[in-house]
Amino acid sequence: MRIAVVGSGYVGLVAGACFADLGHEVILVDNDQRKLAALRAGQTPIHEKFLPELLARQRGQLLTFSDDLQGAVRASEAIFIAVGTPPSESGEADLSYVESVAREISGGINGYKVVVEKSTVPVYTSEWVRKIILRNGADPESFDVASNPEFLREGTAVTDFMYPDRIVIGCDTQRCADVLRQIYKPLTEGTYYTRNDAIPQPDRTTIPAPIIVTSTKSAELIKHASNAFLAMKISFINAVASVCESVGANVSQVCHGVGTDSRIGRRFLNPGIGYGGSCFPKDVMAFRAVARENGYDFRLLDEVMSINEDQRQRFLRKVRSALWTLRGKKLGVLGLAFKGGTDDIRESPALFIAQALLQEGCKIKAYDPAAMERTQEVISSGIKYAESAYEAAAGSDALLILTEWEEFANLDLDRLKSELHYPIVIDGRNLYDPEVMASHGFTYYSVGRAATHPDGVPIGALKNGVDKA
Ligand code: NAD
Repeated sequence: MRIAVVGSGYVGLVAGACFADLGHEVILVDNDQRKLAALRAGQTPIHEKFLPELLARQRGQLLTFSDDLQGAVRASEAIFIAVGTPPSESGEADLSYVESVAREISGGINGYKVVVEKSTVPVYTSEWVRKIILRNGADPESFDVASNPEFLREGTAVTDFMYPDRIVIGCDTQRCADVLRQIYKPLTEGTYYTRNDAIPQPDRTTIPAPIIVTSTKSAELIKHASNAFLAMKISFINAVASVCESVGANVSQVCHGVGTDSRIGRRFLNPGIGYGGSCFPKDVMAFRAVARENGYDFRLLDEVMSINEDQRQRFLRKVRSALWTLRGKKLGVLGLAFKGGTDDIRESPALFIAQALLQEGCKIKAYDPAAMERTQEVISSGIKYAESAYEAAAGSDALLILTEWEEFANLDLDRLKSELHYPIVIDGRNLYDPEVMASHGFTYYSVGRAATHPDGVPIGALKNGVDKA
């Protein structure tokens, strides 16, 4: 099929490259000339596994880049809108980018088109997109608006796209559903998975990919409800971790015991410094706002957000309790991205904590495998950057682990200890076993588990996230 994808960010670029790899002819549209030039020059503007390979394979073949939205609409049967939907001051989604794209799409309609919301949008957006396209002169029979929410996770975006838990298509006409079914056929009928050059299948995935067809409004709600539920799961386990700290229980054991219940599941029961990124914070707020607007006061979501805020503050209190005074302390920081596997620092709790510590007068030397360049773009001074985890640790009064990169979970502990000025590790991601850390000579603080000391004696239960000792 001929497809236009508008917006070549984390979602649009991955979706466009994957659609091309499924055999469709794709025009990726963006209004950022620098991004387009980089893409045309063979660069991959985001850090995402398998994306460089897909772009190299399809660039100039089935995948082309353009700033001409109307031209792309004329040439395509389906137009996916994948522009940003950032939060407005009141917490609602700012849909002005979606509106401006819808307005332009109208002028390019020259036959039946399916306009697909790929961006995460509140329920009723499809009705607005339809109204805007009609207001700008399109014939009502010449297009349908569908919702095809995207569930990919940054860091594993290509794999998630090719091996999704489910594909949700929200359509209100059969004609429109047929177009979307056709687009995803290589995944839903499984022909893609028989190819020798298919992206490798990860564990725990079902092939062929299941497809769920719903009304457009239901599909819009599925995305918001999914993200809100996942954020709730994170806040829930963070709240449990706080109780563990108060009573001296071990949250890792609790997670194991709770998560093995198949109704609950082990995934996303990972206590830490809270959720971040460009999706959960804004989507929970937007879902809260759209529910209120439609007469339902979704107070549960207020608590999800509030626990998430607290989690950062609890971690900062933990740093204070481990180091006493902060002014002038040298801290090694591992991780700036909002989670491992990505260079995305939007709403990153790691960055929030690093900035708060800078304001307290700490000196920070940070290392992140992918996010340092982006951090330098937003924080011009204060943070020094290291070439490795060991260099970040060198001479530091303590080491903070703020992002769950795999390489941070596999450090040479003896080397790390010899680099640090004091062997203190404050781990916001629970990457290490407290007893193993103690046996390697570290004073080790983590989330929801008692801090341990090199002599092997737990430092004691933490009261309100603060070490009692
Ligand atoms: P992004 O900011 O990385 O990319 C948006 C792109 O749209 C940018 O390249 C921008 O230049 C382009 N753009 C903006 N206005 C345009 C216009 N008028 N014409 C052409 N291009 C335009 O955003 P993202 O992270 O890819 O997110 C896009 C949407 O997908 C959001 O609604 C987000 O909530 C949703 N989503 C994101 C993720 C994720 O992990 N990032 C996952 C699922 C869903």
